[in-house]
Amino acid sequence: EAKAGERNRFNLYEPTMNERIMTRRQLEMDLRQALHQDEFRVFFQPRFDARSRKVLGAEALVRWAHPSRDLLSPASFIVLAEDTGLIFELSDWVLRAACRHALAWDDALIVSVNLSAVEFQRADLVERVQNALKETGLAAHRLELEITENVMLEDAVSALRMMHRLKALGVRLSMDDFGTGYSSLGYLRRYPFDGLKIDRSFIMEMEQSQSSQAIVDAIISMGHALSLTVTAEGIETAEQLDRLIELTCDQAQGFYLARPMSPAHFTRLLEDPFPG
Ligand code: C2E
Ligand code: MG
Ligand code: MG
Ligand code: MG
Repeated sequence: EAKAGERNRFNLYEPTMNERIMTRRQLEMDLRQALHQDEFRVFFQPRFDARSRKVLGAEALVRWAHPSRDLLSPASFIVLAEDTGLIFELSDWVLRAACRHALAWDDALIVSVNLSAVEFQRADLVERVQNALKETGLAAHRLELEITENVMLEDAVSALRMMHRLKALGVRLSMDDFGTGYSSLGYLRRYPFDGLKIDRSFIMEMEQSQSSQAIVDAIISMGHALSLTVTAEGIETAEQLDRLIELTCDQAQGFYLARPMSPAHFTRLLEDPFPG
């Protein structure tokens, strides 16, 4: 009916460009405020030795406890933080929170923190990491920095220099989301990485796709040939873990083993890995 169609056209909520910008600006203001009102939380997802399932450490994953929304995942605010430059302050907060929590764990455990590519474009990155270590008192070898290929894409030469300076501090470096980029392989050989993390997409497809399994097999062999620690991320089934063990993958991370959890939960997991 023509009338109903007409009415629907007006009732349908379609944000205008202006409203979209408003929302973004609102979010930006909220983000800025969140930093000062302590609304960020750090969650930890355990990393396990694939074979023994011993906890070897945890990856710090930031969350935003927005006062009027659910706990927000980084997908909804990291890009905005990068675009607005707020990522530096946010990342400083995550680094300190991660290091501070790691101090309370067994001192064999490693804490890993994700860095954004934009952080490599400023010369003060090394100083920022060094300050976080100094202020918290965490030994450098217990901190791992996870970076993606984007870091090398921006400016390969300065990225290499920066990574060598970070290595000189004594921290570990790993390449995150490995296999998703254009030339991850070349970067691995030329840059001072200690580990690589196979992207979740390959793990997800392993059971259905022979070629994904062949790729995972090849990544693990290559990683080992380069003396890198190989971690599989996004393991969701027992079958995936079993297959990865057969392929000699070193470390395992994923919902099948443990989801990201609050610092208190992680501490409890360390005290009692097999409750009940
Ligand atoms: P990432 O570093 O690759 O982290 C792994 C993501 O996969 C996390 O999502 C984790 O919760 C999720 N994940 C782990 N196991 C599984 C699984 O078995 N199945 C599925 N479906 N997902 C799994 P999260 O926490 O939402 O983080 C998303 C991304 O946001 C991270 O990807 C990382 O790139 C970024 N990020 C998180 N925290 C920070 C941070 O403090 N700084 C920066 N710059 N980026 C961060
Ligand atoms: Mg990561
Ligand atoms: Mg990843
Ligand atoms: Mg990722």
